[in-house]
Amino acid sequence: MIEATPLVWDNHACLPLRPHDLSFLPALERHRAAGTHVVMINVGYGDDGIEQHVRMLATFRAWITAHGDRYRLIESVDDIALARAAGQLAIGFDIEGANAVADQLSLVGVYRDLGVRWMLLAYNRNNRAGGGCQDDDGGLTPFGRALLEELAARGVVACASHTGYRTAREAIDASPTPLVFSHSNPRALADHPRNIPDDLIVACAARGGVVGINGIGLFLGDNDASPARMARAMAYVADLVGAEHVGIGLDFLHDRRELDETIAAHPEQFPSALGYGAGMAFMAPEDLPEVARELAALGMSEAELAGVLGGNWLRVARQVWKR
Ligand SMILES: [Zn+2]
Repeated sequence: MIEATPLVWDNHACLPLRPHDLSFLPALERHRAAGTHVVMINVGYGDDGIEQHVRMLATFRAWITAHGDRYRLIESVDDIALARAAGQLAIGFDIEGANAVADQLSLVGVYRDLGVRWMLLAYNRNNRAGGGCQDDDGGLTPFGRALLEELAARGVVACASHTGYRTAREAIDASPTPLVFSHSNPRALADHPRNIPDDLIVACAARGGVVGINGIGLFLGDNDASPARMARAMAYVADLVGAEHVGIGLDFLHDRRELDETIAAHPEQFPSALGYGAGMAFMAPEDLPEVARELAALGMSEAELAGVLGGNWLRVARQVWKR
């Protein structure tokens, strides 16, 4: 199918993680109305356990299915084009951290069947799979290696955002399929442990991966979440490894109150010394068209733009998802 405008794919967005609270779900319309075609919604992170992940998947799946006029659950790569043709937002899910599977790798296939499309190894802190980016990273564990094998076997994309440097470096080599950074910004532009140094970006790209840039001011630098700042980070990675290895994972948080409460309640995950706190700036889904204009102004070609806005994530999906 030839489309007149590029596919727009936002690889990470956050709705409140409260199973019985449907009040924020209509906010998905913001992504659709802004011209986004595909969005991955987070269903759990960090220390969240199996029950929480399954509960959130059930909540989101039921609501999305009941609102099929506007939204479509992604069951296979084909659903992306079908959703677009029908004016629906195509929705998949993501998991931030191996705690979601506890010690049971067979859960990967269960999550996959419930729509989870990517999963990262360790969220800021160390876990069974490896090291977090804000912890003393001891490297990829045997369980982490087995998890990478299982993700590849089940068609779930492996991700090393929030993961420690050493674990990420080892995971890029160990993963049977291209590993991505779903939402990580270049350390060269903003010195924060959540950001990734050039050599990780180069290693990720060399194995066919994609680095998604997030729209969080703390990680873009100077708490500036403007489209110009976002475009600068995307252009930096494109200059370093080629535009075919750049994507978008905005990490827009719909419920700022939940964010502020979470940051206050979990200083071990979000230490104030690293800049976490109230007043963090986030780029909104509505700003993405302006990011595209900024990238064009920086000299990105139409073909490169089509890749960074969504085509590159689609390429990885075709390689990894299996269906
Ligand atoms: Zn994240």
